[in-house]
Amino acid sequence: MKALVYHGPGKKSWEDKPAPTLIKSTDAIVRITRTTICGTDLHILKGDTPEVEPGRILGHEGVGVIEEVGEAVSNFKQGDHVLISCITSCGRCSYCKKQLYSHCEDGGWILGHLIDGTQAESVRIPHADNSLYPIPAGVDEEALVMLSDILPTGFEIGVLAGQVKPGDSVAIVGAGPVGMAALLTAQFYSPARLIMVDTNSSRLDMAKTFGATDTLNSANGDAVAQIMALTNGKGVDVAIEAVGIPSTFDICQNIVTAGGHIANVGVHGKSVELHIEKLWAQNITLTAGLVNTNTTPMLMQTVQAGRLAPSQLISHRFALNDIIEAYRVFGDAAKEKAMKVILCAE
Ligand SMILES: [Zn+2]
Ligand SMILES: [Zn+2]
Repeated sequence: MKALVYHGPGKKSWEDKPAPTLIKSTDAIVRITRTTICGTDLHILKGDTPEVEPGRILGHEGVGVIEEVGEAVSNFKQGDHVLISCITSCGRCSYCKKQLYSHCEDGGWILGHLIDGTQAESVRIPHADNSLYPIPAGVDEEALVMLSDILPTGFEIGVLAGQVKPGDSVAIVGAGPVGMAALLTAQFYSPARLIMVDTNSSRLDMAKTFGATDTLNSANGDAVAQIMALTNGKGVDVAIEAVGIPSTFDICQNIVTAGGHIANVGVHGKSVELHIEKLWAQNITLTAGLVNTNTTPMLMQTVQAGRLAPSQLISHRFALNDIIEAYRVFGDAAKEKAMKVILCAE
């Protein structure tokens, strides 16, 4: 089969690899019909995640059709259409029992990281019963690719951790795919104000069409002053950090109002300066975490019911064979006005 293989920092190729086979009785083999590229894949290619070994097939998002299941798999059979979660979970360990699937003792984020991933014609999914979700007939499968990672990430780590409530003012710093996922899912709770902050004006224009009440370009460095002006000097109830660099974290800690919440979603590679000397008396909370994907079934129902339309996030479509070009476009997101790219195997 063909697969997108990582060959060390800066190197990748679309090449022949042996098709995956069942290793454990809890495995399933899924033929990929749709997959996508994540910002995390670009981090791997930059060399930011040295634990990824050369020769690894990348990708942790996608939908497909079951080709084969191990004898211990009971929820799925050949021919079933499934959503692949970016998080593999055994369902039995102490972390899984707490729904902390991202910390599963025999799983977590392993796809396209520690084991071969979804940017391929087929993939082996360990602990299939707990790591795959059945796709109801009639649901837009392409849109569901957004549920493998970005929507649960924006929702669980941004919106739920930030405790977004009706009438709240919410600022989302970072209008990339995960920030946009937080923007879409925050609207479940009817916040009064959804302020989107980014340095890319085309992304901010897109955010307006997704329901942002205000957009703010932070390129000139006065985002904090602008947000304070928008909120009568009070700041926001919820500040969601969706970039992962010190300057965007700083914006969040400077705009949170008393009793508010900072929900960090961004993947940080450097330490930040936490202004606890100002924040301690403000009765705030600060949360951070890895997605557990325990909300995936609920998100799937909202998509099925037409309450959430994640297909809005898809900016480009390519044949799976053209994945190298798709990487180029996604890697040059500002110029190409790319949000999420879909790769179609059929
Ligand atoms: Zn991802
Ligand atoms: Zn587990």
